[in-house]
Amino acid sequence: MYDKGRAWIELDINNLNNNVNEFKRVLPKGCELMPAIKANAYGHGLVETAEALNKMEIYHFCVAEISEGIRLRKAGVKGEILILGYTHLSNINLVKKYDLTQTVIDYRYASSLDECKLNIKVHIKIDTGMHRLGEHFENITNIIRILSFKNIDVKGVFSHLCVSDSIDKKDIEFTKLQINHFNNIVKVLKENGYTNLKFHIQGSYGVLNYPDLKYDYARVGIALYGVLSKKSDKIKLDLDLKPVLSLKARVEVVRELMKNETVGYGLDFKAEKKCKIAVVSIGYADGISRKLSNNNGFVLINGIKVPIIARICMDQLFIDVSKVDDVKRDDEVVFIGQSGNEEISAEDMANNLDTITNEILSRLGERLKRIYKV
Ligand SMILES: *Cc1c(COP(=O)(O)O)cnc(C)c1O
Repeated sequence: MYDKGRAWIELDINNLNNNVNEFKRVLPKGCELMPAIKANAYGHGLVETAEALNKMEIYHFCVAEISEGIRLRKAGVKGEILILGYTHLSNINLVKKYDLTQTVIDYRYASSLDECKLNIKVHIKIDTGMHRLGEHFENITNIIRILSFKNIDVKGVFSHLCVSDSIDKKDIEFTKLQINHFNNIVKVLKENGYTNLKFHIQGSYGVLNYPDLKYDYARVGIALYGVLSKKSDKIKLDLDLKPVLSLKARVEVVRELMKNETVGYGLDFKAEKKCKIAVVSIGYADGISRKLSNNNGFVLINGIKVPIIARICMDQLFIDVSKVDDVKRDDEVVFIGQSGNEEISAEDMANNLDTITNEILSRLGERLKRIYKV
């Protein structure tokens, strides 16, 4: 089957390799990458991304849920796979079976895991201020108790920063407070003889804005895929990151419209004069937000930037190609990526939608074929 028939994603593994090497260049000695490959590796394809990273000698990963870990193991992916989220106790036997590592999300959960008597590998999550998952940093006795449980195998301790992407003064203060709380835990645990634990707190922005921190892993997600969360983000570290993903579809039909003819659901578009439109084979089910309808989004065709018009459908959408000569069936339409000398980045699309690239990429549909260019 021809995978570029309708709508597809092209993945540039050389760019992924470049990004891995850029991070390796700046991470302190002894700190290893633990890429976040949750949510289908931010749309890039879970198994293929992990396999590519294994080839780059990366052997630590984090995912959101157990099913992602199982898929990776069934595909033969090697290394430590940390489940960042909650796993229901009735699935804990699968954590053991597939040699996954579970996050301890609080003291009570640790106690239940201990009662399972499976001796699964875990990392303890510490809440240093985000108040999502984790045992609160002040409950140091509870944290030490978790480490003394006989039937779980504690490999690491970690926390998560929630404003490390901002370089506003008060956000920097908050992040430094989180880091201090975490460092205090590290110190107390080391003093109590727990010297073999792995500690980690940084995601992409933790590395990009706090490059001097020294921990065992960096849980880098979005930046490893070569994009920032927002176009406007200012970061401290200067890295040469290259986007891995391009998103493309095809022209199915080109048609001329007469003045006053309408297009699509709701008759949202009405031709003010004679014009030329193309119907493109991708829609909101593929992750193209309906909010890009009616001139709110742009695409590239034959190196020319043109608007999305009318209402985006589930599987198709319309673009105005009046200013493009020679448009024909099967021409490539670029939603993210390059065409000629023009480029639309994931940051551009996120900006148009008033969101972050993380959301855009992770919501790219399953139906899109992923094509890996090595
Ligand atoms: C998703 C996630 C990351 C990766 O975050 P990025 O900002 O994409 O680098 C790291 N840690 C945790 C706990 C996460 O949930």
